[in-house]
Amino acid sequence: MQPNRTLQILNKAAREKYGVLAAIAYNIEQLTALVRAAESKRSPLILQLFPSTLKQLPTLAHAAAVAVNSATVPISLHIDHAQDEVHIREILTTLPVDSIMVDMSHYEKEENLEKTRVLAKECHERGIAVEAESGRINGGEDGIAGTGNLEALFTTPEDVEDFIKAEIDILAPSIGNIHGDYGPQGPALGQIHFDRLESINKQTNDRVLVCLHGTNDFTAEIMKRCIENGAIKLNVNKLLLEVWNEFLRQNASKMPLVKLIDMGIEILQKETERWMDICGSSGMA
Ligand SMILES: [Zn+2]
Repeated sequence: MQPNRTLQILNKAAREKYGVLAAIAYNIEQLTALVRAAESKRSPLILQLFPSTLKQLPTLAHAAAVAVNSATVPISLHIDHAQDEVHIREILTTLPVDSIMVDMSHYEKEENLEKTRVLAKECHERGIAVEAESGRINGGEDGIAGTGNLEALFTTPEDVEDFIKAEIDILAPSIGNIHGDYGPQGPALGQIHFDRLESINKQTNDRVLVCLHGTNDFTAEIMKRCIENGAIKLNVNKLLLEVWNEFLRQNASKMPLVKLIDMGIEILQKETERWMDICGSSGMA
């Protein structure tokens, strides 16, 4: 079997101590901009699609897979926050993905762990790597079932061991990070528990790789501190895409569509390149 692309990218980053952007795309223009940034910066990259996007744009995963296979830098395709077991099994058997987040965090812990363990086995049989969320990260993102009235739970040392036993490859801890917006100033002082992140990373001792969710409004400094404390896979959504959104809001009625597409791609590419520099992945491909 081929070595898993997502894990190869993340293992190298863990060894050489830099972070890798795991960037959400909602359409082909964003996908193109992200790949161009990786090529131009000679940076590894993980492309991420939401399950809701797979349903909305059924061909996008195939376009992403073509980009992954033709790129001259290491890129992989990951499905973020897959929460529906039927859909997860459909993804595994029909789409060319390298890794998937099996997110059962809306179940109570025992059920979460059991479902994660069963699905992780099925993924591994197909050479697909598995990410899971320990504790509970509050907030909502596109197409993700909200955590409702359930309280955010920080990841404990026991959680870490339990998820490693469930044989996952990538752990997304809850350390004060939230899904959604922190506000224009970014996370408040003390909101992100860097010490908790560091101790989780030490505890994993290379048995799993650590992923950080909830990076909207992050400053460069907070991002760097997360990487220093062990976060290797950095899930980014609005952090990159806001420049695209803002450009469209300002210009959609003012220029021809083709120009809008070209300029939008260029703006998002530049912003992605800037964050690759911040994460230290530029030149590491
Ligand atoms: Zn997330």
